[in-house]
Amino acid sequence: MARIGFIGLGNMGLPMAQNLLKAGHAVQGFDVSTAQSDKLVGPGGTAPGSVKATAAGVDVVITMLPAGQHVRDVYMGADGVLAVAAPGTLLIDSSTIDVESARAVANAAQGRGLAMLDAPVSGGVGGAKSGTLTFMVGGAEEAFERARPILEHMGKTIVHAGGPGNGQAAKICNNMILGVSMIAVSEAFVLAEKLGLDPQKLFDISSKSSGQCWSMTTYCPVPGPVPTSPANRDYQAGFTAAMMLKDLKLAQDAAASAGAKAPLGADAAKIYAQYVESGEAGRDFSGIIRFVRGG
Ligand code: NAD
Repeated sequence: MARIGFIGLGNMGLPMAQNLLKAGHAVQGFDVSTAQSDKLVGPGGTAPGSVKATAAGVDVVITMLPAGQHVRDVYMGADGVLAVAAPGTLLIDSSTIDVESARAVANAAQGRGLAMLDAPVSGGVGGAKSGTLTFMVGGAEEAFERARPILEHMGKTIVHAGGPGNGQAAKICNNMILGVSMIAVSEAFVLAEKLGLDPQKLFDISSKSSGQCWSMTTYCPVPGPVPTSPANRDYQAGFTAAMMLKDLKLAQDAAASAGAKAPLGADAAKIYAQYVESGEAGRDFSGIIRFVRGG
């Protein structure tokens, strides 16, 4: 059993922390929203009320925060994790953030003699609840091996992607595929509607043909074919359009700085930006089909 400090108890962080509790770890959690922190309190779970108190006296600190600036603040701010973590504490950031921030925080941690991993996830809120997330991990091999048994309580696939920041590199590449493929699947279903083809028939055919992909078979953007997809509950998130836009922008920034061409990723970022600006930032990203359909 490990003592774990978990910071950021939102859509993803809370079920991840709850899975650590179920596995028998002692988890203390903190979120700026007290209502979220309170949901962790119960058998084995406590909510000490600050980053400082949550990161002190534990074996492992895990963070699950919205974006790079939050991660920099929580780790590098006054009374942040790096200032209070005891020697030997393992630090794991599972937020999706820019590679540069991930490497800056890992560097600062190393400067204090603390091992840090970037370990973003794929699998959504469903994967967080069922403990079946994929973790893509950047950082030293030894730290990865220490983290693995902890991550296995929250995920099914745990991959070491290389040195610091490489977990984030894998994540933004993956999500660029996801953003582009969700728009492609949405365009195909809207075209099918206009051609008089039943969406269920398109699903039955394409899910077994060369158009098959996760955006279709797990997260189908039309109601019916995949009962668990957000399309069946008015596109309630899930993974919000704003989060998808964030990841597509991260991919574009990374492509620009690495000199890689990603024109479809650029188009996907523009389309999601328009969708978000239409007032749908908090809607699930698969709701993009409504935008593609034109309302
Ligand atoms: P969320 O907004 O639901 O949760 C983030 C939480 O962090 C919020 O509860 C917020 O109050 C808290 N927070 C913000 N600043 C804080 C601070 N300084 N100290 C403590 N808590 C703070 O977001 P989420 O959907 O849980 O996503 C978290 C991260 O995981 C993001 O980086 C996202 O891109 C990534 N992610 C999300 C999904 C998904 O399906 N939702 C999937 C994969 C990855």
